[in-house]
Amino acid sequence: MNIKEKDSQFIAHTYGRFPLTAAKGKHASCVDETGKSYIDFSSGIGVNSLGFCNAGWLEAVSSQAGVLQHISNLYYTRPMADLAQALCERTFAERVFFCNSGAEANEGMIKTARKYSSDHYGSGRHVIIALENSFHGRTIATLSATGQDVFHQHFGPFVEGFRFVKPGDIDGLRKAAAPGDVCGIMMELIQGEGGVVPLEKAFVQEAAALCAQKDILLMIDEVQTGIGRTGTFLCAEQFNIAPDLTSLAKGLGGGLPIGTVLFGKKCRDTLGPGDHATTFGGNPVCCAGGLSVLSQINDSLLVGAKEKGDYITKKVLSMPHVKSVEGLGLMLGITLDGLDSKQIAAACLEQGLIILTAKAKLRMLPPLTITYEEIDEGLNHLNEVLQSI
Ligand SMILES: *Cc1c(COP(=O)(O)O)cnc(C)c1O
Repeated sequence: MNIKEKDSQFIAHTYGRFPLTAAKGKHASCVDETGKSYIDFSSGIGVNSLGFCNAGWLEAVSSQAGVLQHISNLYYTRPMADLAQALCERTFAERVFFCNSGAEANEGMIKTARKYSSDHYGSGRHVIIALENSFHGRTIATLSATGQDVFHQHFGPFVEGFRFVKPGDIDGLRKAAAPGDVCGIMMELIQGEGGVVPLEKAFVQEAAALCAQKDILLMIDEVQTGIGRTGTFLCAEQFNIAPDLTSLAKGLGGGLPIGTVLFGKKCRDTLGPGDHATTFGGNPVCCAGGLSVLSQINDSLLVGAKEKGDYITKKVLSMPHVKSVEGLGLMLGITLDGLDSKQIAAACLEQGLIILTAKAKLRMLPPLTITYEEIDEGLNHLNEVLQSI
């Protein structure tokens, strides 16, 4: 039985996979089972922030796996303490909570906002304002916070207490926050799965002002935009806001499953013993991977992410069928003139380029370490596909 047949027989059919069986990778390119190579503009959906099998990351995770791979949160371990310190030093955070995915990090934010409110104001102030077209994960609570109906088939009833506002609708936001029942406002700064849609600065700043004024927690989902993806360590830095809570995951572990809730001053002690926990959270191998990622995301890599994003944008705008390019840094969405983005992505793969889609757009999340040679090679493939249509 070949891999595709085995996959289809034994794995639940929850994914529509592209016809690529990845065998190995280095930097921003990967090789399939037949030896054909591909430039990777996806980073495994924003995960491989340092590309495939980065040397420093490999050394960090493999040596940690050979020393202590896990012991549980009943005991202390150095990698998680070091990673927590590094995250607090690079962000607004005063404490962190480690989990294993983006959805879990968002669950942690939701629980924190509700507990903060019940600690300070008693019951009945549990509503979280979220945005239309958002994506916050696949658990029942994070689906309830997700403002896209396509994700809401089959799984009801959902969790109560989420109220939706259109991104950019400042009046709607004020109205939604007017009743005294709101404990949090939750948003992505660039809606990723929703189609790489950056929010307007004025709207985000109004949300931050409302939160400060009414003691509502500002909850920023940086699962996709965080860890240098947009050219700053957190995307929030570019919006001049100070969140109370932020979730991170995708790019944090450099390919290993780890998520984090960052707690600001107000809510750093909201979750106490017994309030929240996870078996795998803070796993030493994942934290060693995270430490290697953080140590390599320095100012020059961040500036590089911005410059590479600008370079890609300029080149893509000169290609046929391209109407516009949205996004920040190395999180880019390409609007096409009516072409089917899924079909274009499939044609790019055939050509030797791994590229993502988000709704009707093509989406690029290349590794932050991608070189200009790799970028040019990938863009040549994209150009050939667009020229041929
Ligand atoms: C991917 C993503 C999530 C979900 O993360 P998982 O690790 O798949 O649970 C949540 N929020 C945003 C913004 C994401 O991009």
